[in-house]
Amino acid sequence: MSTAKAYAAQDKTSPLAPWQFERREPGPHDVVIDIHFCGVCHSDLHQVRDEWGGSIYPMVPGHEIVGKVAAIGASVSKFKVGDTAAVGVMVDSCRTCKNCEKHMEQYCEEGMTGTYNGYERDKKTLTQGGYSSTIVTDERWVYHIAGSLDMAATAPLLCAGITTYSPLRFAGVTKGTRVGIIGLGGLGHMGVKFAVSFGAEVTLISTSPSKQKDAERLGAHHFLLSTDKAAMKKYQGYFDVLLDCVSANHDYGMYLNLLGLEGKLMAVGLPSENPVVSPFALITNRRTITGSMIGGTVETQEMLDYCAAHNIVSDVEVIPVQQINEAFERMLKNDVRYRFVLDMKTL
Ligand code: NAP
Ligand code: ZN
Ligand code: ZN
Repeated sequence: MSTAKAYAAQDKTSPLAPWQFERREPGPHDVVIDIHFCGVCHSDLHQVRDEWGGSIYPMVPGHEIVGKVAAIGASVSKFKVGDTAAVGVMVDSCRTCKNCEKHMEQYCEEGMTGTYNGYERDKKTLTQGGYSSTIVTDERWVYHIAGSLDMAATAPLLCAGITTYSPLRFAGVTKGTRVGIIGLGGLGHMGVKFAVSFGAEVTLISTSPSKQKDAERLGAHHFLLSTDKAAMKKYQGYFDVLLDCVSANHDYGMYLNLLGLEGKLMAVGLPSENPVVSPFALITNRRTITGSMIGGTVETQEMLDYCAAHNIVSDVEVIPVQQINEAFERMLKNDVRYRFVLDMKTL
């Protein structure tokens, strides 16, 4: 066992505060990582404040983890000490069901093991995330990061990156696909970057007029202010694919109307309230609503390699860990440009 320093939530109302806990001794297949940077995902805030229900405390959030390999178990074959390595949203699964065999462990029939706010496969040991000094993870759930990528700006790829890459790939987004990305936050800004990189015609659909310039800088071809009724009407029936990256409760119907023939609304944002959807909005143009959860281990490494080849990283504001509570408040005000990343050396 080794002691990890961390920031943790002790319950759903207190601010995050310093805490210490024990990480397990590395087993034969485990990689020990000294964490250098950890991204701040809106899912961290949802879970810290128990907005989805069932949160388990004490909770060390953080699933956008990048650092250096400090030690390896005897049977580890993919990593050596000193490598730059990353951990994302999951750290284990049953490994034997048909979805795990396809390396879609996020859809494990027995449930994946979350990096935090979950239990190891023994159903007893709490998992703890990346707002901490170290993590010990089976190498299947550890990824290589190319030396050419900036470490801090790479961290958000582990959740915001894969969560937008996977559905855009699944939808077959390619040259000329009319894609609308809804919400320019951590996920949304990665969605814009990937859709542009895949050759799509990309529109950022936002509630924040102040984000128009950034949307253009990120490569979006159009900007649609969702509070402008006349502009929304103009885009009715326009899109092939919409990627809904919104964290707050919102009206899905208003966005469904923007889809053309056989258009797909891909929901990745996870507000606490269930949406109300009219079947009439679905039968019109034979529209589909679908969801997508992060990405499997093989696809996550594929996405990281794609980012290295195309020089894609996140736009980040690196902050000391002591500012995490303030960062949560700014996130709630849509004031993130476009991902907070904690510098774990400040612990
Ligand atoms: P974020 O950085 O806080 O961005 C959320 C964005 O949503 C905001 O920047 C804002 O963009 C938009 N928004 C906020 N309130 C809105 C409203 N009332 N109506 C319309 N748009 C609104 O959050 P994030 O880290 O990107 O996470 C987004 C969501 O994805 C969260 O719910 C998170 O839990 C979820 N998530 C899901 C997965 C998955 O596997 N499916 C993985 C990671 C995260 P504008 O200012 O441009 O309007
Ligand atoms: Zn996340
Ligand atoms: Zn499984």
